[in-house]
Amino acid sequence: MVLLRGLLDVLFPPLCHVCRKPVPEAGELHLCPDCRGAMTPVASPCCPVCGIPFGTEGGIDHPCGDCLTAPPPFDAARGALVFAGPVQELIHRFKYGHKVHLRRPLALLAVEHLTPFVRGVAPDLIVPVPLHRVRLRERGFNQAILIGEVMARHWGAPLLRDTLRRVRPTAPQVALSAPQRRENVRGAFSVAVPERVEGRRVLLVDDVCTTGSTLAECARVLRRAGVASVAAVTVARAP
Ligand SMILES: [Zn+2]
Ligand SMILES: [Zn+2]
Repeated sequence: MVLLRGLLDVLFPPLCHVCRKPVPEAGELHLCPDCRGAMTPVASPCCPVCGIPFGTEGGIDHPCGDCLTAPPPFDAARGALVFAGPVQELIHRFKYGHKVHLRRPLALLAVEHLTPFVRGVAPDLIVPVPLHRVRLRERGFNQAILIGEVMARHWGAPLLRDTLRRVRPTAPQVALSAPQRRENVRGAFSVAVPERVEGRRVLLVDDVCTTGSTLAECARVLRRAGVASVAAVTVARAP
């Protein structure tokens, strides 16, 4: 099987998911070296709590001002890659262009960069950030579930699909300021069966983290349901 796939890759090299150039050594990701090189991993120095990169050369990790003044309800959050360039393009096509197969490279990029962090968290459960049923009907899928399924296989923790629920529809966060985002998601989530998460170490999963307000609100209701700990990972982190 592996040999056959190797032969097929030589005869018909897969195309790069971003630029559509043939990629002879495609591996699992199907991204060409140029597009991979244009993706920026979230690197130190960053905030060890919310994971925001400080965007400076060198320096050590230290809590950001926001986490110092108002510690978030999650223990820690990390994004794999900076939300820009080809990463932004892939996520946009995945979510709004209905290219559901792109969940695989996106999730594998997260696995590549975030496995040490997730090993440290040692989650019992992986919980995708839910969509409201109206949004789910519009989009046809929840991107966090699709990505979470791939992560769950790699990280060996079960994906809990329908315990955390979005009970109130929310406006898209894109055009909102940080305080408006917090207000927009307040009271939007609930835990359907608290016994399923009580006392467990939970890893929240989403595609993008911008200000962290959605992850924070999810973490808040999970804490109220009695989780032992809650951390969060996203494929991308806004710079
Ligand atoms: Zn490419
Ligand atoms: Zn922070």
